[in-house]
Amino acid sequence: MQSPLNDYLIKTEPFYQPSGLEIECYERAYRHRMPLMLKGPTGCGKTRFVEYMAWKLQRPLVTVACNEDMTASDLVGRYLLDAHGTAWHDGPLTLAVRYGGICYLDEVVEARQDTTVVIHPLTDARRILPLDKKGEVIHAHPDFQLVVSYNPGYQSSAKDMKASTRQRFAAIEFDYPDADTEVAIVAREAGIDVELARQLVTIAQCTRALKQRGLDEGASTRVLIYAGTLVRDGLTPTQSCEMTLVQALTDDPDMAQTLRNFVQAQF
Ligand code: ADP
Repeated sequence: MQSPLNDYLIKTEPFYQPSGLEIECYERAYRHRMPLMLKGPTGCGKTRFVEYMAWKLQRPLVTVACNEDMTASDLVGRYLLDAHGTAWHDGPLTLAVRYGGICYLDEVVEARQDTTVVIHPLTDARRILPLDKKGEVIHAHPDFQLVVSYNPGYQSSAKDMKASTRQRFAAIEFDYPDADTEVAIVAREAGIDVELARQLVTIAQCTRALKQRGLDEGASTRVLIYAGTLVRDGLTPTQSCEMTLVQALTDDPDMAQTLRNFVQAQF
């Protein structure tokens, strides 16, 4: 029988440029199905990394972008009305637990607190998922692994991950790659030449120095790829950076001017 997770298999190799030993570290953790936390700022490659690892390990990847309205039921599943009455529908986490996928909870601390209740028994030796509403306890498939991402930069203390939760995970720290690596990533992903990519990376590095000094976050690798893509499509670098690097990063007129000055220094 076809696994319901077949659609979640990643068939072509995602481009991932490693920065250190993260691939090997992940493989070793996966051998033990150890829960993993990917820590780091937004847009620095955490999602791309887990996609690459799922492809490499040939495991289906079920990704859930967490938000503040997300409850445990959104992860686990619920009874829904259909033509035949009410029927249980597995949520994304349950699918991964049942059929042996990697479940990636992106920005896990954004989700409501009740999600920790389901995460805890899955991330210790029990590896179980109780479906209270259904009266079922699922023992995780041997291939199941839980991966979460977490941005230590802009969580409020109310949203910090509790020690009792975080100590259930091994963690890999991510940051923006070194300049040469980031230039190669931006050039390839945006389809632009290396010289333009280098100028964009230089601007990003200036913005990152303003973190906690007027900016919550500097420009991410993702932002640079947007900037490059719009230049490739015909905008001037200045117009493109105004959209992707200035207006997207701040609403403050003074900060916007500071960012514009970084752009003007390059173009
Ligand atoms: P995060 O999950 O950390 O917010 P993403 O993984 O979505 O960030 O990264 C944003 C984009 O930046 C990706 O879609 C990819 O194009 C690019 N990227 C970042 N880091 C890398 C990397 N190491 N290798 C390849 N692409 C990368």
